[in-house]
Order: sequence, then structure tokens, then C-alpha cells
Amino acid sequence: MPDPRLQPQPSPHHGSDPNSGRGVGDETVSAPELRRLETDTDNGMLLIISGPSGAGKTTITRGVERSIADSVFSVSATTRAKTAADVEGVDYHFVSDEEFERSRENDEFLESAGVYGKKYGTPRGWVVEQLKRGRLVILEIDVQGAMQVKLQIPEAFGIFVLPPSEEELLSRLRARKREDESQIQKRFAAAKREIECARTSGIYNLFIMNQEIQTAIREAVDAVAAARLRG
Ligand code: 5GP
Repeated sequence: MPDPRLQPQPSPHHGSDPNSGRGVGDETVSAPELRRLETDTDNGMLLIISGPSGAGKTTITRGVERSIADSVFSVSATTRAKTAADVEGVDYHFVSDEEFERSRENDEFLESAGVYGKKYGTPRGWVVEQLKRGRLVILEIDVQGAMQVKLQIPEAFGIFVLPPSEEELLSRLRARKREDESQIQKRFAAAKREIECARTSGIYNLFIMNQEIQTAIREAVDAVAAARLRG
């Protein structure tokens, strides 16, 4: 039985559309045969936003979502634990390892990856349906996932968010007070690997340095608008 939470359906999010849903990982969860996806997307567009923890990609993602009227955020499934700040169905669908594996076996993910020992996956059916409706579909996913998506949907537009400097990244990771110092050092090392991997991957159309958040959001929104006009 496919997991109903991963099937096409409207789901709530903090975005402008009331019908919208919402480190280099250590392992690739799935290696499905990745074919070009025929989505008949009309004027729908897929936007991938990646970047290391602490670069500010979530704030940029939310800013883009608020600024573009027909944008929708894709709510991923994850096996990571829900934190006090997370809302089920808005930030993620929190699932057990068994549920995740069942969805993966049923080919319900457009991409999936292991990040910091936990599994994350993008709901294929929901994304395809939103693209068919002509929406701007935003995926906030890591580089491994972005590579899988680009193989299937080469016209996806990729933005990678960079911190202003390594020193700034380290101090932002510390300021979040989410992890202890050894975890912070792991995230910092993963962030440096992820930036290197993103630069050499050739999958990102734009690298945005997040020096000032409103400027970074404006850069992202302008780039998306221009890409959409080009078609
Ligand atoms: P967090 O657990 O801190 O929300 O996210 C950890 C990392 O997983 C972030 O880099 C985030 O972009 C990435 N991520 C979140 N959802 C997905 C997904 O569905 N697929 C992939 N490949 N990465 C994801």
C-alpha cells in the first residue's frame, strides 16, 4: 500500500498559497534507475535550493515562497526525530524507518538520500502533480538529492546558498545552539565537503552568498523570475 501521506494532495505550509504543501550526506539511500521524467509541466518549474547547515537556506527558501504567488514547498519524508520547532506535514512528514523503506520500495520518492545518518525523500507524485498545475515547486534538499533530481528533470533550476565565509559559517552553527561542539565540528566539515561537491557538480545555476538575508532572497527571486521568463 502506498503511504497516503506521500500521495498527491494539498498540504498546509507557511507559504503564500493556501493549497501549498510543505552537509553532504553520508550515504545514498536509494539508487533507482533515474530516467528523464515526462511531467508535461506546462509552465511549472522545479526549484532546488541547497546549501550547508547554517548558510541560511531555510530562511531563503521561505522568503522565495512568500515572494512568488504560485510557489509551493515540497514537504519531504524523513526518519529524523521531530524537534520542538518542527510541525508534522509542514516542515516534514516524520516517518519510521520501515515506513520510509516501504515508500522507497513503492517508488514514491523522486529522490532520496541519507543525511547525517537519517533518511530524507521527496514525494514524487505530489511534485509531479504540482508541476502539471504550472506551479513553482520548491525542493530544499541536499546535493546528493539535487543530482538525482537533475538526472530526471534537467530543466530544474538549482540555487546553492553559500555562507559569507568559513569563519562565519562556524559561528552561525555555534549560535544556533542546536548541537554540542563535536556535532558542530562534524556539520562544519560536512558543510565544507558539500560546498566543494556543489561547485564541481555542475548542477547549480546560481550560487548565492548569504551576506545579508533580504539581498539574498531578492537575488533568488529575481533569478527564478528570469528563468521562468526564459521558459
Ligand atoms: P534538517 O534535518 O536539518 O532539516 O535537514 C538536513 C539536511 O537534509 C538539509 O541539508 C536539507 O536540505 C536536507 N534535506 C531535507 N529534505 C530532504 C530531501 O527530501 N531530500 C534530500 N536529499 N535532502 C533533504
